[in-house]
Amino acid sequence: MDRNIFEDEHEMFRDAARSFYTNEVLPHSERWREQGIVDRDAFLKAGEQGMLLMWADEKYGGAGVHDFRYEQILIEEIAKYGDPGFFMTLHSRLVGPYIGELGTEEQKARWLPKCISGEHILAVAITEAGAGSDVSGVRTKAEDKGDHYLLNGSKTFISNGILADLVIVVARTDSSRHGLSLFVVERGMEGFERGKNLKKMGMKSQDTAELFFNNVKIPKENLLGEWNRGFYQLMHFLAEERLLGACQYLANAEAAFDATMEYTQERKAFG
Ligand SMILES: Cc1cc2nc3c(=O)[nH]c(=O)nc-3n(C[C@H](O)[C@H](O)[C@H](O)COP(=O)(O)OP(=O)(O)OC[C@H]3O[C@@H](n4cnc5c(N)ncnc54)[C@H](O)[C@@H]3O)c2cc1C
Repeated sequence: MDRNIFEDEHEMFRDAARSFYTNEVLPHSERWREQGIVDRDAFLKAGEQGMLLMWADEKYGGAGVHDFRYEQILIEEIAKYGDPGFFMTLHSRLVGPYIGELGTEEQKARWLPKCISGEHILAVAITEAGAGSDVSGVRTKAEDKGDHYLLNGSKTFISNGILADLVIVVARTDSSRHGLSLFVVERGMEGFERGKNLKKMGMKSQDTAELFFNNVKIPKENLLGEWNRGFYQLMHFLAEERLLGACQYLANAEAAFDATMEYTQERKAFG
């Protein structure tokens, strides 16, 4: 289908993305699928190309580009020339904006540069055994202990769950239905454990895991956004997730269609 939404500079970026995926992602795809996880340095290489958190301000090392079409191009090209299990978009546009929009200046300066370079990988942990579509069913709990928060509970189906260095965790902070808050849990915090890398039907190279929090002491500086406003903050960010999802599903369907078409045209059967 002909589309007229892209300008020349987008097409130049598309060429760069295609070449990056062809050289740095596709050659590893089969191994990544077998091992159930991408190599960490794939994020570093994407960071070197300026392809992570492109929207972030230049003062943190980003490109300050808010044009959604660049992310759309990354999604479209990875479906055809890379491996959609390398979930750069989750890192860059599903999770990164929580820090970019809700973070204080101190938090942004502390976390964004390493996310942009690919040294730190991001995840968001909402889902629990009893809370999926029904986000208000979250039972993971954070208590205010004066000089820190105490986090207890568990999450499941968390994308980038094994690789993540910073996990935005949704926890109950009030008994009211929507009394949730967001906390940044960092790799290495005592009591933060990872469970199994879960087996899935697709996205084989994407690590999707269980996470456990047993009396994790969260510094006060790691509360993200306002206390008890987590539910509303999630609803705000989940809206763009739908758009990113739509781009991804269409791109993957088109890649599957093209591969099938190519195969049926090349294959000779019954003489
Ligand atoms: C590959 C993968 C990656 C994921 N990554 C993450 C992640 O990074 N972070 C994270 O937090 N979560 C993640 N998830 C979890 C995902 O967000 C949940 O699976 C999703 O929210 C649905 O929740 P659920 O699986 O509990 O299904 P349920 O909520 O139990 O829904 C099951 C079915 O019931 C339907 N349904 C639910 N409620 C109603 C209702 N009231 N009326 C009618 N129908 C209803 C749903 O539409 C669905 O078809 C991931 C899941 C997968 C499969």
